[in-house]
Amino acid sequence: MKPWEEHLHPLPVPLPPVHGEVLGCYLHRLAEANGTTPGRLAQCISPHARVYFTLRTDPLRRWTPAALPRLSIMTGIPVETLNRSLPAFTHLAARENGTSPRRGHAHYDLHVTCRHCMKSRGISGPVLAHRGPAARLCLKHAIWLDGYCHYYVGHIDGVVSAQRRHIRLARRFPDTITAATKEAVKLTRSWLVAGYQPALARRWHQRAEALPKQEARYPSLLRYRYDERESIVTYPEFVSILGILADPRWRALRIHRTSGIAFERHQETIDAIYTEAERRLSIHTLREMPDARHAFRNDPLFRWTDARGRGRFDTPE
Ligand SMILES: [Zn+2]
Repeated sequence: MKPWEEHLHPLPVPLPPVHGEVLGCYLHRLAEANGTTPGRLAQCISPHARVYFTLRTDPLRRWTPAALPRLSIMTGIPVETLNRSLPAFTHLAARENGTSPRRGHAHYDLHVTCRHCMKSRGISGPVLAHRGPAARLCLKHAIWLDGYCHYYVGHIDGVVSAQRRHIRLARRFPDTITAATKEAVKLTRSWLVAGYQPALARRWHQRAEALPKQEARYPSLLRYRYDERESIVTYPEFVSILGILADPRWRALRIHRTSGIAFERHQETIDAIYTEAERRLSIHTLREMPDARHAFRNDPLFRWTDARGRGRFDTPE
């Protein structure tokens, strides 16, 4: 008889999963508490389970739906609770019944959960979990979670309130939030890297100065594309811009690459979008370029508004 067919006994030390936890991480915690290996536990609940299970292992290729009730017997935790807490099983069920196998970049939404929240639950090691589209920090402890280093940001101007606005935006614009988030990250980063928006650069510099020097770091667990300090200092403005970019009413005004409409006919739209951005950012100089190297047509908000951007101008301004 194979391990996944044997009669199962509950583990001596059952542990509840953390909400959104990666299955590999949960099995590691269970195995450690019970003196076994994650691979051994996995093989007891499903055929085709890997022997080697990393903390990040989450897609359950070739696993069978019987794994969930078996994990429930093993841990004594109801199937519904496991199903709600461990996204791996939601994906497994979706694959089984052929609905919405939304295969995104599985690892880009992972984060290490807040160590203070875990401590209050008696968990000492880092826990890997999937986060919602708008989650960037622990609101209870004001700890930034989207990066290698978990900075305390409670004293930094506008960051905690931006998280609340961000969550509201994700609820309000569920269909556009993913695309708009990518666009807003790119746009804010362009302003940061080019450094030609002096009012923004001043704010971002002040926030960077306020960041704590030493905080908990988890460099080996995850891969991030950007330095989290850049994301933190620009976060309030990122959310303000996201409020425009995710709103279908503003998105509908964008000029697409294929449209043959002359720039002059869209001057009004471009003005309206900049006026709105200036209002939301409380900065009235977004359209002012400091020198010839930074033409208005290269401004990232202009390029968002008008996808043909640079190509619309035949002669230098
Ligand atoms: Zn917390």
